Amino acid sequence: MDDQKGEMTMQSEGRLKGKVALITGAGSGIGFAIARLFAEEGAKVVLSDVDAASLAAKVALLTQADEHLCQPHDVSSEPDWERVFAAAIERYSRVDIVVNNAGIAAEGSIEDVTLESWRRVMSVNLDGTFLGCKHAIRNMKNTGGGAIVNVSSVGALKASLTGPAYGASKAGVWNLTRTVALSCARNGYNIRCNSLHPGLTHTPMMDRASPEMLERLKAGIPMGRLAEAIDIAQAALYLAGSESKYVTGTSLVVDGGYIS
Ligand code: NAP
Repeated sequence: MDDQKGEMTMQSEGRLKGKVALITGAGSGIGFAIARLFAEEGAKVVLSDVDAASLAAKVALLTQADEHLCQPHDVSSEPDWERVFAAAIERYSRVDIVVNNAGIAAEGSIEDVTLESWRRVMSVNLDGTFLGCKHAIRNMKNTGGGAIVNVSSVGALKASLTGPAYGASKAGVWNLTRTVALSCARNGYNIRCNSLHPGLTHTPMMDRASPEMLERLKAGIPMGRLAEAIDIAQAALYLAGSESKYVTGTSLVVDGGYIS
């Protein structure tokens, strides 16, 4: 009974009340939707993005705007990770949640994709997530633990004729997630790590696709529509919050049935 009461109090105050969440790529699309939802649920949010100019306008839209922190951040740069964590620790003393969301796509068949384009996708999507996990563990293990959410994609689970670099990078994120989860659990760090696999989602990333391409993609989704960014943010909230306290190393697919 006491436990139930405690749970109800926590929910009415916000599912992330008192938590500090660092979200990469938070200036746009899914990252911003996650930042907004987490702020509504009581978290103090560190919004980071390579496009730092977009962040100031975005943070003003968040609940308790003054409580959050914006940081310019290229996720493929280790010095940037060190600086962003240092700023977060200085301001809040801890980071409880890291969402490795920043990502880029590149078109081109396996025969056409250039090595330069391949490496760029790998450096943002895979190096960036690796560095995010590494620095999250280093910090969280000293402050009682936390949760890492790695934004992968359904592209990790399926062959792609048009985006081989993207799919391979996101498959790497999927496997890395399991290694991080296992390593943290075995070391007794109280850090969970899970991957989130959105299907096609209405964001600026998808807006770059042609209308014909969008129609073709939509036709392949059993639920008949693309996801909204909030659909993905709700899944990130579950993986970041205490409702998933026994969930680690898993992959949560949110795709309207696309992969089925
Ligand atoms: P988005 O609207 O393009 O947002 C991504 C954000 O990340 C942008 O603000 C972008 O800045 C930033 N970014 C790019 N390179 C970065 C870097 N090196 N360091 C830090 N930030 C960087 O994309 P989205 O659709 O929200 O995607 C978010 C995540 O979901 C990505 O990992 C993506 O792969 C994944 N995802 C998306 C879909 C979809 O259909 N939208 C489906 C599956 C998975 P710039 O705008 O300046 O580049």
